[in-house]
Amino acid sequence: MTKTDIRSQSFAELQKSFADMGQPAYRAKQVFDWMWKLGAKGFDDMTNVPAALRHDLSEKFTFQSISLDVKQNSSDGTIKCRYKLHDGNKIETVMIPVPEDKRATACVSVQVGCSLTCSFCATGKMGRIRNLTAAEIYDQAFDTDKVSQEVLGYPLTNIVYMGMGEPLLNYGPMMESIQKITSPEGMAWSPRRITVSTAGIAKMIRRLGDEKVKFNLALSLHAADDKKRNEIMPINETNSLRSLMEALDYFYKQTGGRISFEYIALKGFNDTMEDAERLVRLCRGQFPVKVNVIEYNPVPGVPFERADEKQVDKFARYVRSKDVMITVRRSRGKDIDAACGQLANQA
Ligand code: SF4
Repeated sequence: MTKTDIRSQSFAELQKSFADMGQPAYRAKQVFDWMWKLGAKGFDDMTNVPAALRHDLSEKFTFQSISLDVKQNSSDGTIKCRYKLHDGNKIETVMIPVPEDKRATACVSVQVGCSLTCSFCATGKMGRIRNLTAAEIYDQAFDTDKVSQEVLGYPLTNIVYMGMGEPLLNYGPMMESIQKITSPEGMAWSPRRITVSTAGIAKMIRRLGDEKVKFNLALSLHAADDKKRNEIMPINETNSLRSLMEALDYFYKQTGGRISFEYIALKGFNDTMEDAERLVRLCRGQFPVKVNVIEYNPVPGVPFERADEKQVDKFARYVRSKDVMITVRRSRGKDIDAACGQLANQA
């Protein structure tokens, strides 16, 4: 008989299992708390649960959790963790601290690899191996919060779904993980501190609107015209910028949520003043938007280079002069395998 992962059980399902086992109801609550709120990695961590019950549970269920495999510390404070999953697959999570503001952001993965093959991305080169479960996504946030408290002395302040994989192609577990992160049964976070980033799948963006989600949405834009975007992001061939802008407008009208565009500056490809002008025009749609320009972390074997700092500043100044909100984020973790997917991809 194949065992079920106990962490795939809802509280009602767990209560029923405990009743079937002849256990008092409060035991189900104790175990459920260990599974989410208290961050157990296995049944043996549940110290207030009798050993005989822990044994019975391990006969009936598996307890799938992530375990730290490699930790890289950058001189700028960025910490990249590679986690091993129960089946041996590897994913990565990054913690980016901003100590002067007492902020720290966790960048979590949603898939092992990714099917979308964006040409500048190390993860895209792996192909999609599998989707992560809600628990595997949740654990990255939970564990990074612990890292933040240990290393920085204060808790995590933001979570971005911007690591390996496309969140809207692992929709159910992505939504469930956010439900757990924001629930008092889990980390009790405000959804406004969570941002989901997508390469752009129009019908799924509309679905988020229909579900009236409370978290923020980021579009990985990287080029403000279809021709260039098609070159680097094949998903754009079936999700044109026009269809994405309409979907984002719908999302905004349904949720009132914050929308941002992520724009990796690639030297000579999307950092010219013509590109800046196209970006300005795109941002003058119906919904308010903020642009984050990100320095590129080069990936071996990929023919893109980081744009020059001066050019990026000129680009940003121009966009700002046209009353579009824009910030430039300098690359973090330059001395570690900072580009998404670079660490998980190594043996
Ligand atoms: S950039 Fe994001 S969507 Fe594109 S291949 Fe990489 S992980 Fe996938």
